[in-house]
Amino acid sequence: MKPLPVIRKYSVIAYAVVLIFVVTGAVFWNSFSILRRFEDTTDTLLLSKAGVAEEVFGILSAEFLDAPDVLQEKVSELAAREPDISAIVVYEREEDGDGFRAVASTDREDIGTIRTELPYLLAWNEDAGSAFLGNEGGTRYWNIVKRIGNDDTRGGLVFFRFSLAENDAFVRDAIVRSYAVTAVTLVFVLILLVHHLRFSRYAVRALDLEDVNRMKDDFISMASHELRSPMTIIRGYADLLGEEPTEEERKEYVGKIATTTERMTELVSDLLDVSRLEQGRLPIDPTDMSLRETLVPLAEDYGKAAKEKGLDFVFEEGDLPTVHADPARVRQILVNLLSNAVKYTAEGSVTVSVATERDRVTITVADTGFGISSEDMGKLFTKFYRVKTDRTAEIQGTGLGLWIAREIARKMGGELGAESIEGVGSHFRLSLKKADS
Ligand code: ADP
Repeated sequence: MKPLPVIRKYSVIAYAVVLIFVVTGAVFWNSFSILRRFEDTTDTLLLSKAGVAEEVFGILSAEFLDAPDVLQEKVSELAAREPDISAIVVYEREEDGDGFRAVASTDREDIGTIRTELPYLLAWNEDAGSAFLGNEGGTRYWNIVKRIGNDDTRGGLVFFRFSLAENDAFVRDAIVRSYAVTAVTLVFVLILLVHHLRFSRYAVRALDLEDVNRMKDDFISMASHELRSPMTIIRGYADLLGEEPTEEERKEYVGKIATTTERMTELVSDLLDVSRLEQGRLPIDPTDMSLRETLVPLAEDYGKAAKEKGLDFVFEEGDLPTVHADPARVRQILVNLLSNAVKYTAEGSVTVSVATERDRVTITVADTGFGISSEDMGKLFTKFYRVKTDRTAEIQGTGLGLWIAREIARKMGGELGAESIEGVGSHFRLSLKKADS
């Protein structure tokens, strides 16, 4: 019954994690990949646009290398028309071939300066020219240098600087927007999650209530059945007593009434224990106690009961150490284990043994009885659970004893476990804390 809410809890957490990562991640990744692609595409577009402009301008410039005034006019015109172009410089090759001298420029102060840097020298030898990205004060540029004219005629270079500022500003703005969209998405996802968590908590609570309700129904039907059948028996024998029975019959009827009343008392006290355990009101008072004082008389009593049923009873006493537990509660647990062993064993034996290992003492009650199937083993310590087979059908019980026994054992710092093979027998082990020596 219990693992289900745990699985539910983990699936709710998994759902939350998936929702947060997948939805927000998808929005974020989508915006970024679009932006990246946009940036790459515009960079390339701008580069090719620059290439074309330079090609055309280069042809013109080659013709006017002899007329710097005309060139200067054309440079200024073109720069004014194209806002992306932040600089144009036309260079004439020095006669010694070692550098290039500016003859026209958007910045007139450039005129006369000589360039000997590698991109300029490379551009002279490359038909395609050279292009390189630059960065000045956070603004990116495409710098393009291309040859004009050739070796034979008077030659030179034309330099173009295309600004990527507008593009970059757009991308920056889009990034800020995508952060904002991602943040808003995250907020929505979180709101959605809070709602989802609240609803799943209600759903889990409703399912738990269903479980509780079902258990309560089971309990009421079991309790009324368990109480009604002995009451019917008692009433039947009471009626018989009123019909002037013989002395022998009277004794038999009174005996039946006494044992049935005892069974009812046991059931009522089990029910009381369950309710007190659930409310944490069952008095449990661990102390250093002698296992011998509790176990020996019980072994005698149940030894007799076993023998009456034709079973062997073996008590492997060993040395019985002092344990730290509540004597009345240890007795209650052992009574349950021993009476079950006798009750659910038709032939063979019941064996009680004690073993000490470090700070634990384990009392084992083993029998060669009906045993319990692995399927039933899983529910054995559940309240009201009784194994239903042809052989157990006639045996009276409430299904509360083992649940009570385990709860009490745990409250004393001990443990109660079981191993069983159907048709072979069962071993119930009560482990308790050894008293500090
Ligand atoms: P009750 O004996 O009153 O039904 P318990 O909680 O003591 O309740 O035991 C629960 C069920 O476990 C029993 O109904 C029985 O089917 C099974 N059981 C307990 N002890 C043994 C045992 N020694 N051998 C076989 N079955 C057992």
